Amino acid sequence: MKVCQSCGLERKNSDKKCPSCGGLYLTIAELIAEEEANDEKHSFKGRCKRILNAENSKDAFLFEARQIKAELTKKGIFTIFLIIAFVFALVISVL
Ligand SMILES: [Zn+2]
Repeated sequence: MKVCQSCGLERKNSDKKCPSCGGLYLTIAELIAEEEANDEKHSFKGRCKRILNAENSKDAFLFEARQIKAELTKKGIFTIFLIIAFVFALVISVL
């Protein structure tokens, strides 16, 4: 358990401010850690980890798939389409 650096009160990981003295918890190291956690949340590796750790991996997989779909922008879809078209053109030229 972490404690507040200014008053020593026990702190929850989800708290950003100390309820007792109002001091901010976030240090630069914590900001970086938070950033990394956020990155992992949206990365393929992080998604795989969550699916593997979930009790019901099928449900977790469907949830992650829905999340990916929701995050896809039109630009993202266009990029994927371009990649598929490029690979397809390559395969055709080799055959
Ligand atoms: Zn405090």
